[in-house]
Amino acid sequence: MNMNKKTELLGMEISELENFIIAIGEPGFRSRQIYKWIYAKAVSSFYEMSDLSRDLRNQLDDIAQVSIPRVLKQRVATDGTRKFLMELEDKKRIESVIIPHNQKKDSKHTLCISTQVGCPVGCAFCATGNSGFQRNLKAYEMVGQVLGSKRELGKRLKSRENGLISNVVYMGMGEPMLNYDEVIKSIRILNDPKGVNIGQRHITISTSGDIKGINRLAQENLQVTLAVSLHACNNELRDQLIPLNRKYPLEKLRRALGQYQRLTSRRVTFEYLLLQGINDSLEDAQRLVKLVKPLLANINLIPYNEVEGLPFTQPSSERVRQFYNYLSAAGVNVTVREEKGADIEAACGQLRAEYKR
Ligand code: SF4
Repeated sequence: MNMNKKTELLGMEISELENFIIAIGEPGFRSRQIYKWIYAKAVSSFYEMSDLSRDLRNQLDDIAQVSIPRVLKQRVATDGTRKFLMELEDKKRIESVIIPHNQKKDSKHTLCISTQVGCPVGCAFCATGNSGFQRNLKAYEMVGQVLGSKRELGKRLKSRENGLISNVVYMGMGEPMLNYDEVIKSIRILNDPKGVNIGQRHITISTSGDIKGINRLAQENLQVTLAVSLHACNNELRDQLIPLNRKYPLEKLRRALGQYQRLTSRRVTFEYLLLQGINDSLEDAQRLVKLVKPLLANINLIPYNEVEGLPFTQPSSERVRQFYNYLSAAGVNVTVREEKGADIEAACGQLRAEYKR
């Protein structure tokens, strides 16, 4: 056991923080002050916690830490989308992408966070999937991405407003359902109104189709949105694009989602990446309608963001429009995701891959 290791306060829920504070001989209410500094103000230095005594700040600095990840590099696109490359304590690197909702100065933002370093699923079209898997992130490292991004954004926009980031999507590097417990813990922390205060309905978990995770999520009594990366409606193609489909083929996925909806009454979002000549034909659109229509669902069409070295291209806008029109005419709730951050290669894993070169 390393006696010099400091206690990590980031990732503690209020009750855990209170236990820690009482254990070091301080009154319990101090935990609420510290909690607010960490989660509402994204402060990691105890010396900035100005309502604590000097002695307590010194003591905390000796025995504890708040490891909000360091932003190593960032890129800002012309549409205001920012991509952060963050460094964790063990020097591993992850990405988060922050997307403004509009071009106004006081715009709210959606933050896309990572749940793993690399990803074991290995989707054929994905820069992260092609770079292998290193490890799962801890809940504090997911919460840390939100706080680190908020801090960085606040600096740039000269704002300490807590609501700068209003939505969080678990859609960055990694398959969230393969790191289920830490993901759920991070959601509970992000959702606390006394801290980061992201509403459950403003949180989305995206899975490539891990049924075990979908079944567990159905039991959580959470109001978060479940998004499923579908990308193909026949097993032969989906096996090639998303290898997890071999374990959980479409029929099983479809059944699990039906069960999820019976238990939660919540709408599911299907992400459908449009890859030219691969899954963008009218037959593909027909299959998609057949699969999705019996469910309470939205479809998000995403024209592919090309990745250097991978053999996939984006369909023409005419092709995207035809695909969209077919779904819309069939009565499916469908949107085309506006391309964000194209000039900074905002697709997940691209900045990290480039930085490793
Ligand atoms: S698309 Fe998602 S699940 Fe697939 S390899 Fe990339 S990060 Fe993993």
